[in-house]
Amino acid sequence: MPRLLGRRAIVVGAGIGGLVAAKALSSYFGTVTVLERDALPSKPIARTGTPQARQIHVLLRGGLDALIELFPEFETEVERAGAVRVRVGSQSLLEMPGFDPFPRRDLGFDYLCMTRPLVEFVARRLVEQQGNVGLKSRCRVTQFLESPDHGAVVGVRYDGANGRSNELAADFIVDASSRGALTLELLDKVGLPRPPETEIGIDLRYATAMFEIPPSAPCDWRAVLHRPSAQSGRGGLLVPVENNCWQVNRPACTEGLCRKALETLSLLPRLCERRLFMTRLRARYLSDQFTGLAFRAAFAADLRRLAAFRIVYCRSAM
Ligand SMILES: Cc1cc2nc3c(=O)[nH]c(=O)nc-3n(C[C@H](O)[C@H](O)[C@H](O)COP(=O)(O)OP(=O)(O)OC[C@H]3O[C@@H](n4cnc5c(N)ncnc54)[C@H](O)[C@@H]3O)c2cc1C
Repeated sequence: MPRLLGRRAIVVGAGIGGLVAAKALSSYFGTVTVLERDALPSKPIARTGTPQARQIHVLLRGGLDALIELFPEFETEVERAGAVRVRVGSQSLLEMPGFDPFPRRDLGFDYLCMTRPLVEFVARRLVEQQGNVGLKSRCRVTQFLESPDHGAVVGVRYDGANGRSNELAADFIVDASSRGALTLELLDKVGLPRPPETEIGIDLRYATAMFEIPPSAPCDWRAVLHRPSAQSGRGGLLVPVENNCWQVNRPACTEGLCRKALETLSLLPRLCERRLFMTRLRARYLSDQFTGLAFRAAFAADLRRLAAFRIVYCRSAM
């Protein structure tokens, strides 16, 4: 058992970042309290605080290994919950312009396909099993509280499920709320400079929908990645996920193309240009899987801040 660094740590946000932070901190603090503004569902379903979760998410092998390092049971548990194992290179088809077909070769490792809500759900269950971690849902953190000399963060103020404002003291706080608004507010308040930001413009939109895998689905592949030619600009990704479903995604560079992608999503055979078109699969569109017909995301920009900076300035005197 490592030496404890403090009595209580607080994590703001119970997304993937918050959950893994809570697990990592649980060996070093007497208690870890995770405060999440959403009501956390008892099923693997999307929630309002993480709207991106409705989109297709791929957990690469490196990410899976990182999760296994923290949660040794993760791979078994996520597979038990319905994640689908795909052998990279032999069970996943790559359609590339100029290669018809792209050579298939067993690359010697698998990855697991599932929806992002399932990844989060399984990680949350494993975190809940830690005796010293408490997940408090419907608690929106409204402020970081600093020490009188402004040298440290000593707690948080949050609105609880009953709407009342509460304060909770801690020796260590992690801002895993994704946007970092609370951290920036605190830095402004105590007169410290904001961390440098890098903004990368992204002109990309996504459309994702779910389909039931038909009994006629081929058995020689499980996933398809269609890389578009420069002329068509129409790519696609199909992955098998829990509950015998395909999650199908079409990225598009313009608003118009994205709208078109949304329209054609309900017609799977037209989705990925070659393989899916040729097999003419009659998959059933599951309009009730997600609210609305499909979820659309528009990325204006990717904003990055120096992560280490946040941790240094959110650290309290211990
Ligand atoms: C369209 C899209 C596709 C993506 N595809 C992939 C992919 O294929 N593979 C991949 O690895 N990544 C992908 N990502 C990135 C991935 O979704 C994010 O990296 C990941 O969700 C970040 O996790 P997080 O825990 O830091 O933040 P989030 O998942 O955003 O969680 C933040 C949490 O903090 C809570 N919160 C916020 N403010 C407060 C507050 N004041 N008080 C309490 N709680 C609060 C929120 O409710 C939420 O639960 C994709 C992202 C998008 C947008």
